[in-house]
Amino acid sequence: MMIGVLPIGRPEPGAGKMAAFFWSLKPADADTVRAAGLERWKERVVRLWPECRAYTSQIDSFDQLSLARYGHHTMKRPTSRRLAVIGDAAHSTSPQLGQGANMALLDAAALSYALARTGSVEAALEAYVAARRWHVRVFQALSLAFTPFYQSDSVALPFLRDRLVARVARLPPVPRLLASMVAGTVIDPFRRIGLAEAKWPGRLADEA
Ligand SMILES: Cc1cc2nc3c(=O)[nH]c(=O)nc-3n(C[C@H](O)[C@H](O)[C@H](O)COP(=O)(O)OP(=O)(O)OC[C@H]3O[C@@H](n4cnc5c(N)ncnc54)[C@H](O)[C@@H]3O)c2cc1C
Repeated sequence: MMIGVLPIGRPEPGAGKMAAFFWSLKPADADTVRAAGLERWKERVVRLWPECRAYTSQIDSFDQLSLARYGHHTMKRPTSRRLAVIGDAAHSTSPQLGQGANMALLDAAALSYALARTGSVEAALEAYVAARRWHVRVFQALSLAFTPFYQSDSVALPFLRDRLVARVARLPPVPRLLASMVAGTVIDPFRRIGLAEAKWPGRLADEA
């Protein structure tokens, strides 16, 4: 089971900050969970992650939850005549690597940078595609490769994840590699779009 809380900003200027709360199940199991009742589901979530009571306590009905389905898809070319496609519409994937919102924002920044730096819409669209091509492709491939480790009926893959990967993940340089994977920086997405990574304080940054 995956439970997550995703900060989603303010719905309008001046409004309070919001977060999306989600947990995952197979769509085919949704009716069984509903039939078992809301309290049973809340107990399970809170048992796994007690701090989630702050969110589950705001839910009085399954109708307040949306069943989100997702698929893996990468557009070969996210532009057409005077048209750019960005975000999930251009490259959707399972949310296991937690990169979808970042990728959408990087697309928007790349498009804006390309429009400001080139002399025509055609040239800007070309620059946008070139700037994002490899970062998008690498993360789509990583997501496709890693999703089965998180979500599958296989016995072997979760065993590898919990026993082998859990140990290897502590041996340098693997922590750094994993950190760059979940930070979206396996390939530098910034330089080509006129941005630079923030200087993050903390252990990993100190080790650099
Ligand atoms: C369960 C779950 C957990 C996730 N966790 C993370 C995470 O931890 N980190 C992360 O970075 N990403 C995460 N993501 C992915 C992230 O939410 C998406 O990648 C991101 O929202 C994509 O942004 P977008 O603007 O491309 O699309 P969306 O956010 O889907 O926005 C598209 C908008 O278009 C609207 N729309 C659709 N059709 C029409 C129409 N015909 N007319 C008008 N409007 C329309 C929709 O209502 C929607 O508001 C998660 C996704 C899911 C489902």
